[in-house]
Amino acid sequence: MNVIEKDAKYLPTERERAFLATVESPKYDRQSINGLAPFMEGRVPEEMQGFYSHEELAALSLLKGTDRDVEKRMPVKMTRHYHDLAKQSPAISRLVKAAPEETRSLAGAEDPGYQMDYSPVEGLLHKYEMGLMYVVSTCSSHCRFCYREELIGRKEIQRQDGTVAKKGLAKIKEVMDYIHAHNEAVAANGGHHPESGREKLREILLSGGDPMVLPNSKLAAWLAALAEAGIESIRIGTKEMAFFPDRFDPTFLAMLDQFHTTYPDVGLRMMLHFNHPDELLAKDQDGNYIEEPSGILKWRPETKRAMEGLTSRGWISIENQSPIIKGINDDPDALRILQRAMKRVGANNHYFFCGRDIVAHEMFNVPIETAWQILNESQKGLSGVETHARLSITHYKGKTEVVAVTNEPLPGFAGAENGVVIFKILRSAADAPDRGKVCIVGRNPDAIWFDGYADRVLFDEAGLYDYQRVTDPRVAPPLQCQV
Ligand code: SF4
Repeated sequence: MNVIEKDAKYLPTERERAFLATVESPKYDRQSINGLAPFMEGRVPEEMQGFYSHEELAALSLLKGTDRDVEKRMPVKMTRHYHDLAKQSPAISRLVKAAPEETRSLAGAEDPGYQMDYSPVEGLLHKYEMGLMYVVSTCSSHCRFCYREELIGRKEIQRQDGTVAKKGLAKIKEVMDYIHAHNEAVAANGGHHPESGREKLREILLSGGDPMVLPNSKLAAWLAALAEAGIESIRIGTKEMAFFPDRFDPTFLAMLDQFHTTYPDVGLRMMLHFNHPDELLAKDQDGNYIEEPSGILKWRPETKRAMEGLTSRGWISIENQSPIIKGINDDPDALRILQRAMKRVGANNHYFFCGRDIVAHEMFNVPIETAWQILNESQKGLSGVETHARLSITHYKGKTEVVAVTNEPLPGFAGAENGVVIFKILRSAADAPDRGKVCIVGRNPDAIWFDGYADRVLFDEAGLYDYQRVTDPRVAPPLQCQV
């Protein structure tokens, strides 16, 4: 019995069944270590035993069971492949290594970005023409800075109606019913939903967690059901290319090929998540990147093979996006190498992100103005096509670009004595016409979130500081709220 048939109420079409019957689903041995206990109890393979020092394990163990328990904030997990990278890279090591400092400040939002305000059906966020689905609540390794720590940590969060529950995962039947109902109402009303005014729901991001930890059969079931529901483009958001590139094996690629043959009009976008060139480039024994005779930096063979599996299929669009995180990739040279390497093999540099207001964000977030300077510096010397990535910060209202940080004061502007920061709305989750609206604030080099500018707003046609929470994700009338 395949995955889709287990969902008794969802009735796949003949076409879906024929496609799903072709899918091969092998098991993968990622050799992941789950939790700190295997390290504390010496139950990890010998080569991994030095990953945490005795002192580090003792300090982490003292926090166990307290409010500062690092595993309660974010579960610990690492693949063998990622450990091998970490051995040669302090940045990679920091990305997955739990540290007591993480829980020194637990300031942050339990539901960053008020995601649940946009959830009309459990596991689906509907943001204008786009939907994001939580299809799984884990990844094959866990980034300590994860901006979905509340989902991965299975935390209970409060919703606007007062109920307290863990975030649920999407179910095929419920999501498809919602998409059909929304899109039928839009079509019957001349292109906009009669109540919310939103357009057709035409693009869906499979997210989580990492969809690539699911078997091919389950991924295929999602892809086919979405294609049958009239979704025009499907994205798969994944960091598996860094954590376990062997997952992109011939059976996965064959599934994609068959999907494309069955649904040739549906666009497929792989949204990769490389943070640092150490995740993809080969190093010599001294820890230096290896230069090919052509001058190009050599890739790790397994990662190169996996990337070529995607880039050789011209109908797949490949995008990389990454937050800029303190102590991991807040380094212009690393970001320059990353952007150059991505574009050379056929992946677009999509976004770099400022950190979100997750619990413990003070540990991870680079100040907004510093992140802008780092990205700008990293793009010096790159060609135009290599520098397509913008710096984005996800406001409750939607994706917002950090457009500029001035170096000099603006004469004649009260409040701009130290210069200004300009934000621009790229995508408003509830209201598409907001795109392009701007907010200008006086500089604050210490600000790591929007609230760091709340006392110095100079101009705000974007409404970032007069934000109105969405009260009904299907209809979206506003409720007053302060950032
Ligand atoms: S890959 Fe993404 S979802 Fe998974 S732990 Fe890292 S940041 Fe979180």
